[in-house]
Amino acid sequence: MASLSLKHIYKVYDGGVKAVNDFNMEIEDKEFIVFVGPSGCGKSTTLRMIAGLEEISAGELMIGDEVVNDVEPKDRNIAMVFQNYALYPHMTVRENMEFALKLKKLPQEEIDRQVNEAARILDITQYLDRKPRALSGGQRQRVSLGRAIVRSPKVFLLDEPLSNLDAKLRAQMRTEISKLHDRLQTTFIYVTHDQVEAMTMGTRIVVMKLGYVQQIDTPQNLYNYPGNVFVAGFIGTPQMNFFEATLKKNGDKVEITFANNRKLTVPAKNFIKAKSKYFDGETTVIMGIRPEDIHIDESFVMENPDTVIETEVGIVEDLGSESIVYCDLDPESNADLTDTKSRLVIKVDPRTKVYKGDKIKVAFDGGRIHLFDKETENTILPRIPASNEISAKVEHGVLKVLGNDITLPSAISLADGDYELSIPTDAILIDGARGETQEFEDLVEPNNYETKYLNKKAPVCSLRSFAPIAPVAMGEKLDATVVNKELVNKTVLLELDVGGEILFAIAPESVDLEKVQISIDLKRVQFRRGGEVVKEPLAERNNLSAHLISEKAGKKTFNYLLKVEDCNFLSTKTISDKLITASGRKVFSVNLAVDFTPYGVVKAEDGIKASVTNILDYGTEKFAELNINGKTVNMFIPSDLDLNEGDYVTVAVNPYTLGIVDSDRDIRVI
Ligand code: ADP
Repeated sequence: MASLSLKHIYKVYDGGVKAVNDFNMEIEDKEFIVFVGPSGCGKSTTLRMIAGLEEISAGELMIGDEVVNDVEPKDRNIAMVFQNYALYPHMTVRENMEFALKLKKLPQEEIDRQVNEAARILDITQYLDRKPRALSGGQRQRVSLGRAIVRSPKVFLLDEPLSNLDAKLRAQMRTEISKLHDRLQTTFIYVTHDQVEAMTMGTRIVVMKLGYVQQIDTPQNLYNYPGNVFVAGFIGTPQMNFFEATLKKNGDKVEITFANNRKLTVPAKNFIKAKSKYFDGETTVIMGIRPEDIHIDESFVMENPDTVIETEVGIVEDLGSESIVYCDLDPESNADLTDTKSRLVIKVDPRTKVYKGDKIKVAFDGGRIHLFDKETENTILPRIPASNEISAKVEHGVLKVLGNDITLPSAISLADGDYELSIPTDAILIDGARGETQEFEDLVEPNNYETKYLNKKAPVCSLRSFAPIAPVAMGEKLDATVVNKELVNKTVLLELDVGGEILFAIAPESVDLEKVQISIDLKRVQFRRGGEVVKEPLAERNNLSAHLISEKAGKKTFNYLLKVEDCNFLSTKTISDKLITASGRKVFSVNLAVDFTPYGVVKAEDGIKASVTNILDYGTEKFAELNINGKTVNMFIPSDLDLNEGDYVTVAVNPYTLGIVDSDRDIRVI
């Protein structure tokens, strides 16, 4: 039994093939995780890195509480089952199964007990004395499962274990492996390219494409809320129908126009989480609808007149339990039914009698329409919207927004007029949520981190203190009513009514009130006028270039130093270890980029020289805009620091909050 943690995991094969990019996932004990995706997407590579059969190029892998990047496969307490069984042909089934236990030098009595128990679970007791070649494929796969079971591993890894079996046996083994998981109560990670296996077996599924994770979610959520066109098309058979479409908002309805001017009208509240820019009647989006969400039966068609279209039946495939009807949305044209632009696939009850050439009426289920951005192919109906799009007015330095007046701080000085605001969903602070009354200083932990100059043995100084990641005091408070609460995975999304407008916000766990007070973290708001950005939010990360260097500390000892711009900082062990793991001997020549928040840079006695080009006062917090070798860096100004435009200041970065990217290979190391 074990949890697993994969952080920024990369695999770069010799020759530069990036098979896995920035894989991040927390796997809980006893989960059944399935990695799924087309051939070559990096599933097996990821599994093999977990097994220890493939070196991890960068990132951190933990099994339980232990970092196992450098732990030998045999010491990871995992068992792996392969597609090709990997049994010893000259040994009997019993000998194959007891092999690992014999290596462990367990007493024979105990070995027999475990092998017999595993054989009983897998129903192979009668074959224990046979050699593998005298077994069918399904039986051989049971033996290799048995060999894994007797080792009582913390984690079971299965690499396409059923792909050598015929369809019927595969279906049977699928249920058996699920039962085995229930029974063993152990973490399973299962690789397959078969979406049916993924959907039926996984507690959570990782969908991968070309080395990148596309989405990690439960089978139901992947089906109901696919995050992009790829996932939408990959999960579900027959595939989801996709059409280019435009959306026009009319009052509380949205009109969808697609495929030769066909129109559907659906309630605007179905699309409440989408950005308003998509509803101008011009922007092309991709509409998706699953074959099972289009209905042909008379009662549904009668009850949903707003989503009915007429079409002509092309081909009917009767599969017994269901019929797949391929309709032609453009029978006049020469396009045939392989042209997905004019083809509509519908899944119907096989008792519904429709024939080629029939003109039929079908109704879309308006609540199950998916919408994607045409360029990015990402959903425009995210379960947690990234931001709220709100209109506002500025008059004499006062922001009139959401039925309230907010005095704009000096960092945001805007001319009078109408504005559109993007307010990130997590930039809405809710009563008591983010340290409303917590003084910034209370959160600061003293930290004796040292800095030194390069080539100059300056006295080593310890820094005053480092700031936490993001303490924000609440600004002007607005009254809000909680209209709806939705649990999205582990996050509570609030739908708030503020001054008659809807605002999405992330709830702190404590909120179970109907009325709350909110404030807007103004430094994170983007202001636009007539579509043009006039004020960007404060950058959340700063970037500087860096190198790792080593310096002799004693006869045989070295200090690793992180040279950021022209200043050396003593590296932490974590940083140097991770950099060395990622680049080996070449580590000192790798160009690095370090990133950190405005709270991760502080005034120091020794460090990087900077000039203050601007003071950004957001009311509740102040920041200094610094110039460091021509690069702009924002630094949080604690209340006891007096800093003004035109000042020179020496700063250091907090190594504990640093992100580090290998810029040569575009790999995030930390
Ligand atoms: P999957 O299991 O999803 O089919 P793999 O993890 O086997 O995919 O492979 C991912 C990518 O890495 C593919 O492009 C594959 O060609 C490449 N690859 C796999 N093994 C090696 C290797 N030993 N050397 C170089 N490239 C490899």
